[in-house]
Amino acid sequence: MEIIGDFEEELKGLRECFKSGKTKELSWRKTQLKGLLKFLHEKEEHIFKALYQDLGKHNVEAFRDEVGMLTKSARYALKGVTQWMAPKKIPLPLAAFPSTAKMVPEPLGVVLIFSSWNFPFGLSLEPLIGAIAAGNTVVVKPSELAPASSSILATLLPLYLDSKAIKIIEGGVDVAELLLEKKWDKIFFTGSTRVGRAVMTAAAKHLTPVTLELGGKCPAVVDSLNSSWDLKIAVKRILGGKYASCGGQACIGIDYVLVDEKFAPKLVDSIKVAIKKMFGDNPKETNSISRIINKQRFLRLKSMLNDDNVKASIVFGGSCDEENLFIEPTVLLDPPLKADIMSEEIFGPLLPIITLKNIEDSIGFINSKPNPLALYVFTNNETLKSRMVSETSSGSLTFNDAIIHYLLDTVPFGGVGQSGFGTYHGKYSFDTFSHEKPVLRSSYLSELWFRYPPWTAHRFNL
Ligand code: NAD
Repeated sequence: MEIIGDFEEELKGLRECFKSGKTKELSWRKTQLKGLLKFLHEKEEHIFKALYQDLGKHNVEAFRDEVGMLTKSARYALKGVTQWMAPKKIPLPLAAFPSTAKMVPEPLGVVLIFSSWNFPFGLSLEPLIGAIAAGNTVVVKPSELAPASSSILATLLPLYLDSKAIKIIEGGVDVAELLLEKKWDKIFFTGSTRVGRAVMTAAAKHLTPVTLELGGKCPAVVDSLNSSWDLKIAVKRILGGKYASCGGQACIGIDYVLVDEKFAPKLVDSIKVAIKKMFGDNPKETNSISRIINKQRFLRLKSMLNDDNVKASIVFGGSCDEENLFIEPTVLLDPPLKADIMSEEIFGPLLPIITLKNIEDSIGFINSKPNPLALYVFTNNETLKSRMVSETSSGSLTFNDAIIHYLLDTVPFGGVGQSGFGTYHGKYSFDTFSHEKPVLRSSYLSELWFRYPPWTAHRFNL
């Protein structure tokens, strides 16, 4: 409570700072982006250490998914911001001559960013890049479930940024709820669908616009791949998209696989071989899989596996080490569809494979569930590809790969339906934190009689 007592003053300060107009200056935006880059570079070791402490994340993964990814994004924004800010000409009909119009992006004001714990730097700073580039003042509340990372953000990041305009507020649900009572000009939320609802409800009170980056179950459809090369690459990408992104604790990680029942044995065998190759006989020792974030989430995953109806479907792995919060890469074949593992988002290194009479049935299967954040389809069949595009709905659709769309600055990232709404990354982040204001410039040269009374119907020959 005390934090928020003080925070009332800080919020006032943020609003005054925004009103002063300094965050609208191109030079301010660029200086902040450069500060962010400097933080990522100079504090890389601190970031790696915190990610290891919170999640057991390997440095290679930490660089790839957080430091490297953010460096790329901040550089992209630094390069693009001048052009993004520039007014864009709007074409007008001849009848509007001699008026002209331009679209002028303006910052929204004081914005709030809530992030999740699985990519504690990435999910806090990627939206921050957009908020800065768009010229806003910002509060970021990192997740309390990754405390070491949250602490680095709160103590070290402010040394590199304008602390009058950008604040990191640490805290859990109590702080989040109190923050949500305040009036913001935008709330950008990354987290669960359940909390997303609470955020939207709170935002409605002030008519605050929201972007909700939520979760759900992301399927991977695997068609019968005839070429052994294609199958080998597909399996690697499936495992990468399952286990190698924060140990399966990723919103766009593959949740489950759908496969033709005739092709399933070949796929399962290939997956088993590839897991051994990637993670060895004792995956824990390779340090290549992040651990589960906390005991509560660990026990939730363990109970999914220990369900008597599910246990029999384990075809690979299954061991859980409670002391180290580690679960080995686990594969299940046809667990019951009613079990938690198939009705809830898994968010861990458990991979159910569901067999279907034929691969086209995957369309109906996907459509019977809430819209996924990401859909992956491994196929060379152009008819199936076309049907997936036109007959399913998901935040994004990727053929023959997984996760990779997240890295691409020119590709908007976001969900649809239960997996959220609004997009970000690259220029889309700038747009998310901007209002596009049409500015019309008219002249006194011409005047149209029907704009003003008295109306004289005969002049239209009515
Ligand atoms: P969460 O919803 O529990 O927490 C997210 C944020 O909300 C945290 O900052 C937390 O402090 C805050 N929060 C928690 N309870 C709150 C409440 N009652 N009121 C207000 N704020 C509250 O989610 P999580 O466990 O951090 O993350 C897991 C979920 O997030 C998964 O569903 C995952 O798919 C999703 N996710 C989505 C993305 C994406 O980019 N779409 C990325 C990562 C995670």
